[in-house]
Amino acid sequence: MCLFCKIVNKEIPANIELEDENFLAFHDINPKAPVHILVIPKKHIAGFNEVDAQTMADITPFIQTLVKKLDIKQSGYRLICNIGENGGQEVMHLHWHVLGGAKLKFDHLSDADPKDFL
Ligand code: AMP
Repeated sequence: MCLFCKIVNKEIPANIELEDENFLAFHDINPKAPVHILVIPKKHIAGFNEVDAQTMADITPFIQTLVKKLDIKQSGYRLICNIGENGGQEVMHLHWHVLGGAKLKFDHLSDADPKDFL
């Protein structure tokens, strides 16, 4: 069973921020911003390549409720979904990073030049 499935099954503890029948939101163990939450579907989906349209539709209001609860709706936040090896995905269970609580840096997209990777 994957790490995040164990969190869903409460076999591994997590600091849960919001939960419903289909989704779970919990604090990242290694936060990269004052607010850093991971949002996952409870059913195991390996990543964005495998996700179905209904899950994507349903996760939207869940995240919108979450950011209201966290009080970052108006100040802004960033949603990140890392996909596969080049995307930096380490846990193979679909998850969205919700980052906020401060003005976030945008290092990669602002500084990177495609030639740097050649
Ligand atoms: P990614 O690189 O997109 O796969 O992100 C995986 C994230 O899961 C990282 O930000 C980790 O800090 C986080 N993480 C790993 N193990 C745990 C855990 N037990 N509880 C909460 N977050 C975790």
